[in-house]
Amino acid sequence: MATELIDGYGRVHRDLRISVTDRCNFRCTYCMPEEGMEWLDRSAILSFEEIERIARILVERYGFESIRLTGGEPTIRAHLPLLIEKLAALGIEVALTTNASALTTMAQDLVDAGLSRINISLDTLKPERFVALTKRDRFDEVMQGISAAQAVGLDPVKINAVVMRGINDDEIVEFAHWGRDNGLVIRFIEFMPLDAQGEWTNDTVVTYDEILSQISARWELEPLVRGSSPADRFRYVDGGGEIGIVASVTQNFCHACDRVRLTAEGQLRNCLFSMDDWDLRATVRSGGSDDDIARIIEEAVGAKWEGHRINQVHFIRPSKSMSQIGG
Ligand code: SAM
Ligand code: SF4
Repeated sequence: MATELIDGYGRVHRDLRISVTDRCNFRCTYCMPEEGMEWLDRSAILSFEEIERIARILVERYGFESIRLTGGEPTIRAHLPLLIEKLAALGIEVALTTNASALTTMAQDLVDAGLSRINISLDTLKPERFVALTKRDRFDEVMQGISAAQAVGLDPVKINAVVMRGINDDEIVEFAHWGRDNGLVIRFIEFMPLDAQGEWTNDTVVTYDEILSQISARWELEPLVRGSSPADRFRYVDGGGEIGIVASVTQNFCHACDRVRLTAEGQLRNCLFSMDDWDLRATVRSGGSDDDIARIIEEAVGAKWEGHRINQVHFIRPSKSMSQIGG
């Protein structure tokens, strides 16, 4: 019988994000420097068996219901479908966040292995801008990857678009149009101070209110029940589908956060903006028992803050970027 994994503010944790690699084949300007990062050594990264063990403890002891695989770019981790198969066998939903560059060849294998949900990151519909933003000339592959995800029956396919002032904020309505026309749920994401280059400032954030007012000036929207989703969800009243806005900066959803994160090197983090890690890899590799691992998990969740402090004077940027934590 599972017990609830509750923090000091009464939030029950049921959602795990696992970064399966810190490496990436793209260099999105808001996430990674052009030259890449100093990659982790292969031996530093958790094996599939180690990941499965930690996941099993979270599912069996604490009733976790879903796991999202992320990175870095998760599809560049060799044999990813094998990991999905192991995790799906725990009886939970397995989701993936990806840049879609590998989906034309992998989408069917991922679904066959048990993948049930997908989010694809795409921040522009303009091919030249895509190259500037990702430092890779792979726009066509990504668009084909999105179609491949739809063709293998992943539904809905959600598109994560980080909106940055002066970079792609002229495409908000165009993105909404494209989502409506193609049966995609667009999730507009506020730019967070987790870019590896440290160029984020408050002014670069295109806010929830700005995004919502641009779209609702064009179509009538109706709010949907949010649940524990980080996105505030809306449906088009005319039946054109759904959008989401993830307002991590201006309207954080920390009060409803039910998530913990496991980095590629086996560090448990209780928040994207946490300054601390809890080292599960050391315990796993030194022969620790399931009880030892569970104790660390409970300690990490017990130490969770009430919320991040981006908008406060004493906010300190985490030393890790989004690609190292796993977005
Ligand atoms: N490589 C995969 C991808 O791009 O979908 C998974 C990892 S990526 C770090 C996960 C998500 O984090 C992506 O949707 C990306 O847009 C988002 N992200 C990265 N840096 C961000 C930032 N500074 N602010 C907001 N979102 C960010
Ligand atoms: Fe890679 Fe994803 Fe970061 Fe882009 S957002 S650099 S695809 S990890």
